Amino acid sequence: LFANVPLAPRDPILGLNEAYAADPRSNKVNLGVGVYYDDNGKIPLLACVREAETAMAANPKPRGYQPIEGPAHYTTAVQHLLFGPQSPLLAEKRVVTAQGLGGTGALRIGADLLKRIVPDASVYISAPSWENHRGIFEAAGFSVREYRYFDAQTGGVDFAGMIADLEAAPAHSIIVLHACCHNPTGADLTEAQWQTVVEVCRAKALVPFLDMAYQGFAEGIDADAVAVRRFCDAGIPVLISSSFSKNFSLYGERVGALSIVTTTADEAARVLSQLKRVIRTNYSNPPTHGAALVATVLADSALRQQWETELAGMRDRIRAMRQGLRARLEAAVPGRDFTFVTAQRGMFSYTGLTPEQVERLQRDFGIYAVRSGRICVAALNSHNLDTVADAIAAVLRG
Ligand code: PMP
Repeated sequence: LFANVPLAPRDPILGLNEAYAADPRSNKVNLGVGVYYDDNGKIPLLACVREAETAMAANPKPRGYQPIEGPAHYTTAVQHLLFGPQSPLLAEKRVVTAQGLGGTGALRIGADLLKRIVPDASVYISAPSWENHRGIFEAAGFSVREYRYFDAQTGGVDFAGMIADLEAAPAHSIIVLHACCHNPTGADLTEAQWQTVVEVCRAKALVPFLDMAYQGFAEGIDADAVAVRRFCDAGIPVLISSSFSKNFSLYGERVGALSIVTTTADEAARVLSQLKRVIRTNYSNPPTHGAALVATVLADSALRQQWETELAGMRDRIRAMRQGLRARLEAAVPGRDFTFVTAQRGMFSYTGLTPEQVERLQRDFGIYAVRSGRICVAALNSHNLDTVADAIAAVLRG
């Protein structure tokens, strides 16, 4: 049976982590990671989460099955973050939300649902995109294409190219968009640019699928939902995957959600019934713990306040690292433009380093980055910033 099974290609980032782990140098730094580290290089356990967990442990509950779409107190909390608690969409019962297994699981149930509804559609992802976008939509049976996104000249968005590619996409194509903190580039759209994307999606009958993996990591909870809100204002059906891996630092709990904005309450009820079939035949119903933590924190005003403070702390620390890196690079490599470092948002930055420069960073300095030149700014800290900046400056000077 298995004699001829070929070995699947290795995940390149896992290979990077292995090489990093085997490196004996004490000043090595791994910037290839995809998680937020605190200033001591550790994954934080948020105090709000610890407190909610302590309270839950003091009052343990039986673990019956959850509803297929997850518990209402959790899905409602997700909706409030995305749309704002006062959104008329919620009063009109036009939004379907189901708990997902992290952002990845939310994308996948969304992809599986869309395959039932628009089986012949193509999916468009940004060039470049989070590498799993292609895999998820191909695994759901779609053919995946790319729209232009990153402009290597400016370190920002090739907006004209993006719009031209979206305008050329066939009607009902599914357009995967990073709601904020684009992974891997850090280059985001402005609100005015979002408005243009909304208009193109409306005019060309495209299906937007917003990936919201970093709500609160760019500007703030509401500000980072601008894309969601602009699509909703336009009355366009939209799918949104949420992840609480980063903003609650709950990576291993696999907490996420899929929300779908429909046109009427009746449509929403039918869409939910189909989504429940997708979930039922996949993992039946979602796990309890992570979603209970998120729902508990968001429902309690003191814990919610604490979460917002801790989230702002993560956001501010990333910003400070961007400013620190930019200042050091500007001082060390005069005449070169590093404004992109602070213009980009979220955990990642496309540095413009070539594969050869990335290799040299690793070989000569023990600084590990992805071959594309992506670095995780959230892996920088006050202890390694000088080392990293000096090394990047050295490879840039050649
Ligand atoms: N989308 C994007 C853009 C991401 O960067 C990530 C995580 N790296 C995800 C989705 C998946 O999130 P999760 O870990 O919650 O599945």
